[in-house]
Amino acid sequence: MKVAGIQRTSTIDFPGVLACVLFTRGCDTDCFYCHNRDLLGPGDCLPEGEVEAFLKKRRGLLDGVVVSGGEPLLQPDLEGFLAALKAMGYRVKLDTNGRQTQRVLALVEAGLCDYLAIDWKAPRQQYLQVCGVPPEQGYDATRETLCRLAEKGVPCEARTTLYPGLTAGALVELAGQLPPLPRYRLNFFRTPACARQRHLPLLERPFLTPEQVRAVEPQLRAVQPGLTF
Ligand code: SF4
Repeated sequence: MKVAGIQRTSTIDFPGVLACVLFTRGCDTDCFYCHNRDLLGPGDCLPEGEVEAFLKKRRGLLDGVVVSGGEPLLQPDLEGFLAALKAMGYRVKLDTNGRQTQRVLALVEAGLCDYLAIDWKAPRQQYLQVCGVPPEQGYDATRETLCRLAEKGVPCEARTTLYPGLTAGALVELAGQLPPLPRYRLNFFRTPACARQRHLPLLERPFLTPEQVRAVEPQLRAVQPGLTF
């Protein structure tokens, strides 16, 4: 398991659970607004023994572990790692792009994951520009995952970053393309510290403010009553 960093405590990443956050290395997406660019490619990782020692030491002090990234589902030994976390008594939250529908469902079925946060990134027609991934591999696969989780009543949330260029109307439409989920979280845009040269014009576009989101809050709540921002 390639863990590039640990946030030792978080009260906000796992709803209702005091948790640490593990950042796995590697991502198969290339969002123009990414804040974790240093995690995307190869690079340093923590020794496995150090991660294990940290997790063992924090048992009883923390209730949960958030496995984030990057994209955790790129780790071939993810299942074994989550099983080890469960064996230590932790509640587990997985942050993922949700593109591996069958694998996500299998993790849930196996009881390896208590809560999922899945990125619902962009409207289908903008998906390639925003994420660098064709919509049939990104938007369609993620939508399928979220629909299946909603159908099964799995505790989960979809998350949308209000990236520059996303309008209030497109946001309402995007939220309405999913079934109502237990939680639908909006993250306001923050300018990343670094970006690819070709992404700079995209970052210069206007982005939604809290006031603009509040103006369409009734429409958003009508389709996603679990809205939070
Ligand atoms: S999925 Fe997350 S880590 Fe990967 S490029 Fe997008 S924002 Fe960055």
